Amino acid sequence: MQSNNLEKINSSYVGLCYHYIRQSKQTDPFPRILGTNIDEFQNHLSMLQKNYQIISLEDAMNISYGGTGFHEKSSGVLITFDDGLSDHFTAAKILYELNISAIFFIPTCILQEKLPANPIIIHYTIAVFGVEKFLKEFRTILENNKLDKKLFDIQYSKDTDNVWDTISKIKSTFKYKLGFYNSRKILLDIYKNLFCTQYKNPLDIIHLTESQIRKILEMGHYIGTHTHSHISVAATELNLADFAKEIIFPKNYLEQKFNTQVNSFSYPFGGKDDCLSSSELIKKTNEYKLAFTVKEILNTKNTSPYELGRYQPTSSDTSFKLNNIIKEIIIGK
Ligand SMILES: [Zn+2]
Repeated sequence: MQSNNLEKINSSYVGLCYHYIRQSKQTDPFPRILGTNIDEFQNHLSMLQKNYQIISLEDAMNISYGGTGFHEKSSGVLITFDDGLSDHFTAAKILYELNISAIFFIPTCILQEKLPANPIIIHYTIAVFGVEKFLKEFRTILENNKLDKKLFDIQYSKDTDNVWDTISKIKSTFKYKLGFYNSRKILLDIYKNLFCTQYKNPLDIIHLTESQIRKILEMGHYIGTHTHSHISVAATELNLADFAKEIIFPKNYLEQKFNTQVNSFSYPFGGKDDCLSSSELIKKTNEYKLAFTVKEILNTKNTSPYELGRYQPTSSDTSFKLNNIIKEIIIGK
């Protein structure tokens, strides 16, 4: 294949991984959920369109697999969304108006079981009920399931403990300590015993619906998988059946349900301890063409297509700050 200088310059991109896109705190029914404010999100997009070439999944595939890339003077940015959140429907519409195609990574439990993904249960129940009530329910469920309270319980006192440190402890207990089956079971009980008693359509409040996903695809966006129930792929002991259910099944399920090709997935949590190396992944499956982590690196044609990086914009990232962060990733700081 012929290559020229222009192609060399423009065969690289920074991936962005968004989660919650929230309305202003005054009108948000869940003001304690942290996320990118929707006006700030629009500022991000104006900045990105001005300074970078916003690329699609197809461009990213071409870069990884020796296609022609894209031909603009600036570096590329790929916009992705993890977790199949209800917020993403509005984001998809904003992007569609701007002629931008993004990728939405969806945990299939929200469709097949009509149940939310693990960390999202923690976010919403704590946002509504607070840490104390969450932990009280957690203790009751540990007891009911005859699980060792001493081993798993998390102490919290409003006056002496930092709430964010406690939330981190809760997240890490569910992610790494309780094990795959116990975590899922306990979180679903917490969801049913707390969140579902308060809201009529609990799942639709939290996640995208099937018909919204259909519309997102009609807008020209792509979907990818994000495991079935949002597990740490590398940190979870998965037998062959579990691996098939969490990694392989979601691809086939989304392809059949939405009559679309699914070639990419993003690792839940996406950190070093959560992702497999390329070679480990290839040993287990060759179903996917691209896999995304949250390593903050510039993706080029030399980056392994199974270890692609993304930056996760935080709730305090203004467009100015985000632009600087992208510039730093491009020069490899
Ligand atoms: Zn996720």
